[in-house]
Amino acid sequence: MLDDEPFILKLIGHILADLGCTSVTTCESGAAALAQIGKPEESPELILLDLNMPEMDGLEFVRHLVGRNFTGSLILVSGEDERMQQAAEKLAMAHNITVLGHLHKPATPRGLTELIGKWAAPTQRLPQTEKKVYDAEELRAAIDNGELVNYYQPKVLAASGRVVGVETLVRWQHPVDGLVFPDQFISLAETSGLINDLTRTVLTEAFAQAKAWQDSGLSLLVAVNISMEDLASMDFVDFVVELSAKTGVPPQMMSLEVTESRLMVDLRAPLEILTRLRLKRFKLSIDDFGIGNSSLAQLRDIPFDELKIDQSFVHGACTNEKLWSMFDSCLNLAKQLKLEVVAEGVEDQADWDFVRNRGCDIAQGYFIAKAMPGADISEWIKTWNQSYAESKKRTP
Ligand code: C2E
Ligand code: CA
Ligand code: CA
Repeated sequence: MLDDEPFILKLIGHILADLGCTSVTTCESGAAALAQIGKPEESPELILLDLNMPEMDGLEFVRHLVGRNFTGSLILVSGEDERMQQAAEKLAMAHNITVLGHLHKPATPRGLTELIGKWAAPTQRLPQTEKKVYDAEELRAAIDNGELVNYYQPKVLAASGRVVGVETLVRWQHPVDGLVFPDQFISLAETSGLINDLTRTVLTEAFAQAKAWQDSGLSLLVAVNISMEDLASMDFVDFVVELSAKTGVPPQMMSLEVTESRLMVDLRAPLEILTRLRLKRFKLSIDDFGIGNSSLAQLRDIPFDELKIDQSFVHGACTNEKLWSMFDSCLNLAKQLKLEVVAEGVEDQADWDFVRNRGCDIAQGYFIAKAMPGADISEWIKTWNQSYAESKKRTP
């Protein structure tokens, strides 16, 4: 336990002893605490940390923990307000330190018990496997060899549970490494000039899949992620229009999700391309709204049909005041602009109840379903409709 106030150390020390903690060391300064963490076998399993301390403050202490490869867990106990505590928690987690939570002073036995109950020995945690880094040549070959496959994640109406569409999420079916997720190759594609070919491959397959669903009587709006880099040349409009004509999938059934991943210097081409696509009746969606560069300026300039509230404002919003207000602001903005609103990252029952109660139009997330191969969608819809109808019967 690290706190500059001896009184607090004493108080929490008693609580910990009552909770059955057998080996508790208290320190009044960061320097004294660091002296205890020298050797791995002596390193504490859990540190209770104050934020506001003279000399070395709690955040600086966390930085030293990182430098010492601390593998234990952390609980913040401080007098700082909720926002400060959350920020400190985020920061420590960004450094890959396990944070069990935070407590406001004076900490209560109940609060401590609850957080300590979350503790798990480091060996029980999943090992942090290093993600493999691919190079442009490998990705080039993957595109050429048809190793990219589309997965589709359902989007449902929040009010009725009706499945209205899917989002296309690309995967790399790697011959050796298995299924590789897009966070491992999209930015590579964007920086190495491969994104155009990647997007065209994904779009071609998505249109073909949309056509198959259409023919089987399934009406689904199919969304595809588009990079800003795709929107540099007018060829893109022709490519999409031709795909639609060739497959017979009407533009109204295809939606293009756009995020501004990097700052674009010249917005004239993307602006024109998106506006022309909209003119042809393709749907436009602003993705990851609220983070990165998906911004008000884009909303002002581009005729979007749909706004997707980023998952970081959705999951857990019902118990977090700050997220709740941000979610509501995005929602209200979208409603005022008459845009359809999608909540991403609906991960559990609480998220689902929350987005429904707030009046959000569409929900997407693990609570509903993870992305799956296109061939599995129609079977999934049947099961979803059944279990949804049953849950309605239980709680009308
Ligand atoms: P995104 O467009 O924001 O897609 C949503 C991501 O969140 C997907 O990850 C999805 O699997 C994940 N997700 C869905 N529901 C939940 C949930 O309830 N909780 C959590 N924690 N996550 C959820 P995925 O498939 O790994 O895709 C990551 C990103 O890669 C996408 O983010 C998108 O920006 C990009 N991406 C995927 N496919 C393509 C593509 O064909 N072209 C381009 N340019 N980018 C793509
Ligand atoms: Ca998306
Ligand atoms: Ca998104």
